[in-house]
Amino acid sequence: MKPLTVCAALRVEARALRRGLRAASIPDAQVRVVRTGYGPARAAASAASIAASARGASRPGLAEPGPGMLAVGGVGGALSADLRVGDVVVASRVSDGTVTVECASAPLLAGELRRAGLRVTTGPVATVDRLVRKGEHATLAATGAIAVDMESAPLLAAAAGGPAVVVRAISDTPAHPIVSPGTITGGIAALRSLRQAAPALARWAAAVGPRQVLLASPRSFCAGVERAIEIVELALEQHGAPVYVRKQIVHNATVVADLERAGAIFVDELSEVPDGANVVFSAHGVSPDVRAEAARRNLATVDATCPLVAKVHAEARRFAADGYLVALIGHAGHEEVEGTLGEAPASMALVESVADVARLRPADSGKVAYLMQTTLAADEASGIVDAIGDRFPAATGPGTDDICYATTNRQHAVRAIAAESDLVLVAGSANSSNSQRLVETAERAGTKAYLVDGPEDIQLDWLAGTSTVGIAAGASAPPAIVGQIVTALAGLGEVQTKDVVVATESVQFGLPKELRQRAGN
Ligand code: SF4
Repeated sequence: MKPLTVCAALRVEARALRRGLRAASIPDAQVRVVRTGYGPARAAASAASIAASARGASRPGLAEPGPGMLAVGGVGGALSADLRVGDVVVASRVSDGTVTVECASAPLLAGELRRAGLRVTTGPVATVDRLVRKGEHATLAATGAIAVDMESAPLLAAAAGGPAVVVRAISDTPAHPIVSPGTITGGIAALRSLRQAAPALARWAAAVGPRQVLLASPRSFCAGVERAIEIVELALEQHGAPVYVRKQIVHNATVVADLERAGAIFVDELSEVPDGANVVFSAHGVSPDVRAEAARRNLATVDATCPLVAKVHAEARRFAADGYLVALIGHAGHEEVEGTLGEAPASMALVESVADVARLRPADSGKVAYLMQTTLAADEASGIVDAIGDRFPAATGPGTDDICYATTNRQHAVRAIAAESDLVLVAGSANSSNSQRLVETAERAGTKAYLVDGPEDIQLDWLAGTSTVGIAAGASAPPAIVGQIVTALAGLGEVQTKDVVVATESVQFGLPKELRQRAGN
């Protein structure tokens, strides 16, 4: 592997970086810290010399250097009031007003630094040609930049379009400018952060390389999730904020944060909802007790339960009314399971494993039925169904599969990419059952797989040595997250994407009647 060149303008910055690398036992042969000098003119000269030496070392006879990899590390000034001395800024883009360089892998490095215990913000960095004076911060911040330095833009020319990152540890802020009594303390705090950040640069370099990315298709939102999100958006449009939502509308942190910003308030129980408020029930469904409580309190409710979950509730009621003991195959504590069990608590038993089947005690062994959580792994559930059939040969199941089309398709798709991938990344939140099942499905296919809420959750060590990365996304994960992951990987080297399509989906569910009438469709 070629060594990473880390450019540091000042001697103290170079020393802090070297100390951090030495403390992590990273050899010079892996990461080389180069002192490049103060200000844009020295930075430009150093960039030319780094590029010339790369050309001489690896591409003799070429007039221009090919893409390399480059990191810039040093202290910088904050433009955003949210930044504090000692914080670390990872540049998403660097511009001096003439040249703009994108640093697409910034979220990957930012996540790594956060896990190392640093306070990290990602955003644009401005390179200027002199120290920022009092009163000039606001003008620079108006360009969108969150931090400022004097070297990054010209230095990044040495990367010649190859992977590049910029890490600036904040030494001064608009409230404590560079020439102020706090200068020394600010500088010490920034250099400490820089030292702490240095080892992550070596991990970033080890992850650099071209990759093929296999995109599992179908992926991301299913019809039930799209409908549930639209229901909250329409409720906000029709009633105004706040609209209360019992439990997370779907199990995804990004979706929940976006709706919170729009005015939704997520609560765990109806007791947290004020009298007279509007409440949406989540896509996972609720038990009859919850509906009864809402009616008792005259809350205006809209039900976003996915119709495929509602179908399982109806089956539970029907089997229970016919005198069956209903074994619900699912995971304890999941909201969907709690809602379904609540339909006929006296006639239902949760079965999480084959061992649980032995504990079933039906009054009549000829009257046993089974149902399933909609987001189970098909192979896992079929083993339990077989065990129920072995113990109760007359056991009966649902008319059509309870594991929904979206879960099934996404599991087939992740299995298809896992076979070809060195690593599978599944976009989804930790509390998303269907996303977790995708991770398990990929791992059962023999490929290491990880669940990530976004690119910042990807650990650089996972990527080192991989040439084919598969990406899948759970039914509650926004499609944009997959795009963000691909963009971040492209910041590490050339990426070729390929869609691996195992099914096409055209399922759509109508809106609840109360919203449809008001929306006029
Ligand atoms: S995963 Fe299946 S059951 Fe759950 S919301 Fe989507 S379509 Fe409905």
